[in-house]
Amino acid sequence: MVEVHGLTKSFGALHVLQGIDLGVGRGSVTVLLGPSGSGKTTFLRCLNSLEVPEVGTVRIDDVAVDFARRPSRAELRRLRAMSGMVFQSHELFPHRTALQNVTEGPLYAQRRPAAQVTAEATALLAKVGLADKADAYPHELSGGQQQRVGIARALALRPRLLLFDEPTSALDPETVGEVLTVMRDLAAEGWTMVVVTHEIRFARQVADHVVFMDGGVVVEEGRPDDVLVEPRQERTRRFLQRIL
Ligand code: ATP
Repeated sequence: MVEVHGLTKSFGALHVLQGIDLGVGRGSVTVLLGPSGSGKTTFLRCLNSLEVPEVGTVRIDDVAVDFARRPSRAELRRLRAMSGMVFQSHELFPHRTALQNVTEGPLYAQRRPAAQVTAEATALLAKVGLADKADAYPHELSGGQQQRVGIARALALRPRLLLFDEPTSALDPETVGEVLTVMRDLAAEGWTMVVVTHEIRFARQVADHVVFMDGGVVVEEGRPDDVLVEPRQERTRRFLQRIL
């Protein structure tokens, strides 16, 4: 469902992605691992058109973009609409309620009818366990609750693919579990997910595919039990020793 070939992205002289190839099957969970600065966030942002790579192709279902041909803004918008992104710090609008944060994108970016959007957003808040918090403002919610609103907000855009960028790394340890539970439920429902995380237990239990990146390249990839338990590459071994 997702195919990436030769994705290359630089910031000035810094070559952050140096030709990334990746395939993601429909309904699968891919976990991206790698040291700080290896390009994981930049890669997710390229899938979502928040960054524009210099070279390479991305195809998500029937939307394909060849970056070497300098895609138009309309093409980039089409690609962006395919995925929903959950950020490390949820980035909710502070002066809008949980419900308003979830309805914002469908109402104003997608211009869908208000009654339908509100009903769907209410159901999504219930799905992430926040039915009783629809009218709460972000500062009235815990970090884990805010992040669950962030997940509902991504789902409200009706994406084909969910991208998570270290969704639990800014949370207090006691709230990490509630966010991972919601993510497990989404995986069980068959959502296609690409997740940057250092939660190795989550990766072993939920991922179908694990990708280890370093220095802007994919060093090693495969099934969780292979990459995480018996990595072939020395760089992967060293990284896992540091974080486990
Ligand atoms: P982390 O785990 O710390 O989030 P990462 O693997 O996600 O790291 P990226 O955030 O993709 O790595 O960053 C890769 C490199 O690109 C870093 O050296 C970072 O400083 C640089 N970088 C990222 N975004 C920009 C930008 N907009 N302008 C300049 N440099 C950037």
